[in-house]
Amino acid sequence: MFRNLQEKEVWFITGSQHLYGEETLREVAEHSRIIAQALGENDKIPVKIIFKPILTNPDAIYDICLEANNAKNCIGLIAWMHTFSPAKMWIGGLTILNKPLAHLHTQYNCEIPWSQIDMDFMNTNQSAHGDREFGFICSRMKKARKVIVGFWQEEDVIDRLAAWCRAALAWNDWQGAKFARFGDNMREVAVTEGDKVEAQMKFGYSVNGYALGDLVKYVNSISASQIKELITEYEETYLVQKGLSRDGAQRASLEEAAKLELGMKSFLEAGHFKGFTTNFENLYGLSQLPGLASQRLMAAGYGFGAEGDWKTAALVRAMKVMSYGLKGGTSFMEDYTYHLEEGKMKVLGSHMLEVCPTIAEKKPSLEIHPLSIGGKDDPARLVFDVAAGRGLNATILDLGNRFRLLVNEVDVVSTEYELPNLPVARALWVPQPDLKIGAHAWILAGGAHHTGFSQAVTKEHLEDFSEMAGVEYMLIDKDTRICDFKKELRWNDLYYHLLK
Ligand code: MN
Repeated sequence: MFRNLQEKEVWFITGSQHLYGEETLREVAEHSRIIAQALGENDKIPVKIIFKPILTNPDAIYDICLEANNAKNCIGLIAWMHTFSPAKMWIGGLTILNKPLAHLHTQYNCEIPWSQIDMDFMNTNQSAHGDREFGFICSRMKKARKVIVGFWQEEDVIDRLAAWCRAALAWNDWQGAKFARFGDNMREVAVTEGDKVEAQMKFGYSVNGYALGDLVKYVNSISASQIKELITEYEETYLVQKGLSRDGAQRASLEEAAKLELGMKSFLEAGHFKGFTTNFENLYGLSQLPGLASQRLMAAGYGFGAEGDWKTAALVRAMKVMSYGLKGGTSFMEDYTYHLEEGKMKVLGSHMLEVCPTIAEKKPSLEIHPLSIGGKDDPARLVFDVAAGRGLNATILDLGNRFRLLVNEVDVVSTEYELPNLPVARALWVPQPDLKIGAHAWILAGGAHHTGFSQAVTKEHLEDFSEMAGVEYMLIDKDTRICDFKKELRWNDLYYHLLK
């Protein structure tokens, strides 16, 4: 699911001009090559950094942008103006560039050599004004980009750039991505609906519905030996509840769950899908809600949304790509129930079944229990808690005239009590700045009950991602004040109305 991420490239481009003469340009090129190489060799940067020859005229700039647009593995450009690069030269290239752009505002020399500084030093190290000229034309053209300021070896600069690369990976992953919807939307639910045509135009991924019968064909083609093999994997990976052992009363249900997982997986692989949705109201031909299957497919890298929630499925997939290789997991999530005791307010997040085991604190327990809704057989599921620490919830909404990406940072906390009667995976968190303000702002912004929950993705990843997607981004964090948040909502309404 993540295999081709290793092949992705970010191109490092440097602007200059002929005015400086061959010798200076050679030096500029050498400095750029050194910086590009150092960035590429840094473990935090998740992609290849490709050094490109210095750009000194409009044609070369146009050509590199054209080439970047057409290069399948190129997910974005890092631009740096070591010297002065008159920015009218950049208009043609920036007009056609359709890959994400990061403007690295750095300088090859970290320190001013106080006792030796002369005009040669100043003329070579002049990004302080060269990058301002580039910044002007980007702003004048309203070009979306991330600006990163600081010495290129500084940890903070690497972190900013790594976050941008991760967002670019996820953005690249969405282009042409396919999401399968089994059984359409949960009837009458509003927030999970939306304009799929607009989403495809804006985000690059497509969402199509499939009849349950199409899936049932795949499920029914699974052999007994495949099921046996998968159950062995379950037994090696999880704590398996008593009734599920070889002679257990519920063994048949577990075999059914394994069959479902294998059938769904082969359906998704055959169609090259990156995620899917299910709907417990529409399971015709399936014996149980695919709970364990959805959990394990999410863990394998698929995006998932319950009740037909295709926007969350796509978002979960993007968040999994963004955080690939980082510590902490990402899951489909729902704000389920509250603890409203004064001073200790928190949210218990969960779902009927479908929480991804990448966020499990310890070895999950594989269990089968009745499901109180849906009217099908008792489904299998993994039950676990989530480790305390930082986290966030994110949602994408369709507001009719635009999409909104809404993010709330949260502090995940440990359960103080055993929860012996709760047969689902669960997370406990305190929304920032607290539950009252966090939930208040979330509701004012129209935030969904479904989210992508992550302990690996940061608000920076999502903010960078929103710039690339050209989508409204709203953040609820420790600094959120309701009166300011309300104003931001009103201003954004006006801004996006005018933008049309
Ligand atoms: Mn739900």
